[in-house]
Amino acid sequence: MPTIAVIGTGNMGAPMSLNLVRGGFTVKAYDIVEEKTRALEKDGVIACGSHAEAIIDSDAVLTMLPSEVEVREVVCGPVFENAAADTIVIDSSTINLDDARELHALSQEKDLRFLDAPVSGGTMGAASGNLAFMVGGETSTLQAARKIFEPMAKNIIHCGGPGMGQATKMCNNLMLGIQMASVAEAFNLARRVGLDEAKLFEVAGQSSGNCAAMNVFCPVPGLVESAPSSNDYLPGFTAALMLKDMNLALAAAQRNTLDLNTGKTARKLYQQMVDEGDAEIDFSSIYRLFKRAE
Ligand code: NAD
Repeated sequence: MPTIAVIGTGNMGAPMSLNLVRGGFTVKAYDIVEEKTRALEKDGVIACGSHAEAIIDSDAVLTMLPSEVEVREVVCGPVFENAAADTIVIDSSTINLDDARELHALSQEKDLRFLDAPVSGGTMGAASGNLAFMVGGETSTLQAARKIFEPMAKNIIHCGGPGMGQATKMCNNLMLGIQMASVAEAFNLARRVGLDEAKLFEVAGQSSGNCAAMNVFCPVPGLVESAPSSNDYLPGFTAALMLKDMNLALAAAQRNTLDLNTGKTARKLYQQMVDEGDAEIDFSSIYRLFKRAE
């Protein structure tokens, strides 16, 4: 089986590496925080001491990094310097659309095959191998890479040419961020007017208010057992990551002279959560922000 270099073994990259090992791949991993790759050695991951050590002689590189800053640094640096021609480079981080497009073009100049392939499904999806990959790039590259995605994925969706994976992720998370703010606001109103929140959940679940922000990630504790809210908003998709995604959408809109009115309002609310110390808890705790404001 081919060898995959995984760069960035944080909350997402670590479980994704383990699923690649379970899928039969040889995984060489590197993270700037050495302990993060060392912790994976007992499960068969080869911990490397540098980017280069992981990339040299690997058939594909998978980056799972915080933002476009680190992705550009790694792809334009160690990947371009060490990857052999034709190597598949998959970036599954959530990054700026323009950077993703540029990385496709720069990779092509270096005879590398690049895919932007951000994911949905969070840390739970990463652990269970049930991520949805939204892929942008050449059809032939996706065909060649499909076997790499499979041990980590429930869905592998080709969204279009370069950058279209990031574009899909950006629009999806814009919807989710706004949706969560609206659901939390409605439940807060329900409580204030004396309506039982469980009753609203029951009725809205069968009515036009139904959506994932309510029935999967319900912000009100105790209504959906598996939702982060029922576990003190941990673990989950952090408010900091949601703020990052709202900023990506608003920046893309601005570059395309588009005004995202509801997006701007939602961004302000997630910014407030981060400023008030809720950066590292689930974004559905926006419900508590509304409660605090009373
Ligand atoms: P994380 O911060 O837990 O992991 C990132 C890792 O990259 C860290 O371990 C860090 O040490 C490492 N790193 C940073 N710079 C590096 C470099 N130059 N070289 C090597 N390693 C480096 O973040 P995460 O939660 O795993 O998220 C990764 C990406 O996935 C982000 O772009 C995020 O937006 C996206 N994402 C996260 C989730 C989620 O639920 N956590 C869901 C979907 C998408």
